[in-house]
Amino acid sequence: MIEIEKDNCIGCGACQALLSDIFEFDDEGLAKVKVPETASFNDLELKEITSICPTDAIIAKKKVL
Ligand code: SF4
Repeated sequence: MIEIEKDNCIGCGACQALLSDIFEFDDEGLAKVKVPETASFNDLELKEITSICPTDAIIAKKKVL
């Protein structure tokens, strides 16, 4: 599961530019996750996704089964 820590997002657009299938802008110009909470990613994908953000605003959480 991926979340955005809005307090850390500076709206740089890197996540939307590189992964437009996962991220979009909200009404305030900050990043927003557009995939459902149930979307699953493996560890490598989560590492790559979170590494995009220069301010560590993208938070990856493992789903608890
Ligand atoms: Fe915000 Fe990080 Fe995405 Fe830039 S890469 S828009 S700071 S979440």
